[in-house]
Amino acid sequence: MKAIRVHQTGGPEVLTLDDIPTPEPGAGEVLVKIEAAGLNFIDTYHRTGLYPLDLPIPLGLEGSGIVEAVGTDVGDLQIGDAVAWSSIAGSYAEYIAAPEESVVKLPEGVATKSGAAVMLQGMTAHYLAHSTYPLKEGDTCLIHAAAGGVGLLLVQMAKKCGARVFGTTSTPEKADLAKGAGADEIILYTEQDFEAEVQRLTDGQGVNVVYDSVAKATWEKSINSLRPRGYMVFFGNASGPVPPIDPLLLSQKGSIFVTRPTLGHYTATREEFLSRTQDIFSWIQSGQLNVHIGEEHPLEQAAEAHRRLEGRQTTGKVLIIP
Ligand code: NDP
Repeated sequence: MKAIRVHQTGGPEVLTLDDIPTPEPGAGEVLVKIEAAGLNFIDTYHRTGLYPLDLPIPLGLEGSGIVEAVGTDVGDLQIGDAVAWSSIAGSYAEYIAAPEESVVKLPEGVATKSGAAVMLQGMTAHYLAHSTYPLKEGDTCLIHAAAGGVGLLLVQMAKKCGARVFGTTSTPEKADLAKGAGADEIILYTEQDFEAEVQRLTDGQGVNVVYDSVAKATWEKSINSLRPRGYMVFFGNASGPVPPIDPLLLSQKGSIFVTRPTLGHYTATREEFLSRTQDIFSWIQSGQLNVHIGEEHPLEQAAEAHRRLEGRQTTGKVLIIP
C-alpha cells in the first residue's frame, strides 16, 4: 500500500510516498480502508522534529474509512462499518490496522469526510470550551486563528455555551468565515493591535479566557488581554512555542491561571473519548455544528498540504485523500 512517511526531519519536502506492506489486523484490531486522513498542525511538529519521534515516522494521526477485515477478539465492529479515529500513527496511508478502543463508529448522517474532519480538532475544541475553561453564559473569550481547523469549531462551541466570542484572523476572507461561524467580533491581528482592541471592546475589563494556539507571536498580548483571575490557555505553537514564564508574572498580570493542555489528557478514558465524539456527532446530525472542509489533497500531494497549512493559506479542515 502507499503511505507517507518521514525518513529525516525537515521541511515539507521530506515527506515521501513509500510502498509498504498492507498491515494485518492483530488481536483487538480492525483493518480500515482509509477514505480520508485529517491534516493537523501536530503533523508538522512531527515532521520538523519539534515533537521528536523515532524514524521513519508514519505520518498522520487522524482519519476515517470502512472496516475491511476484523482481527481476533474484536467486540462490536464489523466489516463494512464506517469508523473514525484521532490518534493512530500512520493515517496518511491507504490502510491502517486500528486498535478497536481507539476508533469510533460513525453514526448515520455523519459522512466519512466529516468524521475525519472533526475527530482531533473537534475533540480539542470540545475539551477547551467544556473542560479546560468551561465557558458559561456571560463569559467573554478570545480565540486566535479563528478561521482555522480548531478555530472554526471552537467559535461555534463557545457560542453554543453562551459566551461572547472575539476571534483573530490574518485576512478579511478568514474574518468572514469566522463571523459566519458565529464570532461576535473579529480582530485582524496582522493589522490591528489585538490587545488594544480587546481592551476597547471590553471597556478595559479584559476577557475571561484566551485560547491561544499561535503562541510565540501572541502570548504576551494574550496575557495582557485577560481580566484579573482570567485563564490563559496555550494549546499550540503555530508561530513557535511560548518561552518560559516566571510565576511572578502571573500575579503581576492579575493572579491569572496558565495551562498548557493536550488532547490525550482530555480523552484519557474510553468513556471520555466517546462522550466528546457523541456530542460532536449529534451536533453535526442536528445541524448545530457546521464542518468546514476548506480543501482536499491527494495522498501524493501531502507536502503541498503542509506548505499551505504552515503558510497560513488554509481555512477549516484540510483532508488528505488516499
Ligand atoms: P489551523 O487550521 O488553525 O492552522 C493554523 C493557523 O494559525 C493558521 O491558519 C493561521 O491563521 C494561524 N497562524 C498564526 N501565525 C502562524 C504562523 N506563524 N504560521 C502558521 N500559522 C499561523 O491548524 P489546526 O487547527 O490544525 O491547529 C491549530 C492549533 O491548535 C495548532 O497550534 C495546533 O498545534 C493546536 N492544537 C493543539 C491541540 C492540543 O490538544 N493541545 C490539538 C489540536 C491542535 P491566521 O492566518 O488567521 O493567522
